[in-house]
Amino acid sequence: MDPECLFCKIVNREVPSHFLHEDEDLVVFKDINPAAPVHLLIVPRKHIRSMNDIQEEDSPIVGKMFLIAKKMAKEFGVNKSGYKLLFNVEKGGGQEIFHIHLHLIGGWRR
Ligand code: AMP
Ligand code: ZN
Repeated sequence: MDPECLFCKIVNREVPSHFLHEDEDLVVFKDINPAAPVHLLIVPRKHIRSMNDIQEEDSPIVGKMFLIAKKMAKEFGVNKSGYKLLFNVEKGGGQEIFHIHLHLIGGWRR
């Protein structure tokens, strides 16, 4: 855990948030500034600063992020209409919070 990291604070419930899913490895909550009708963030409990920092040992958690994304897309009714899964990587890639998170974005009218 990084004491300066907002997503570590959310994961550890130091900053309030509503978890749509939580398990031993990751949590899911709504993006505070949604870019679409459905905009969720899938966030590992482990502090990993960017996708540039993932290690071999992190591959199960990264894989699980995608499986939970699939589950959440179904729960939010966008699995059939379609959605985007996105990692912003480093500043030039649009990353603002340096604790990896997978954006699930969808819910536009077809
Ligand atoms: P990124 O630009 O990929 O680092 O994404 C960071 C995302 O976190 C942005 O879409 C923000 O709107 C979102 N965000 C920032 N603070 C919060 C918060 N307290 N709760 C939920 N989402 C947040
Ligand atoms: Zn963190």
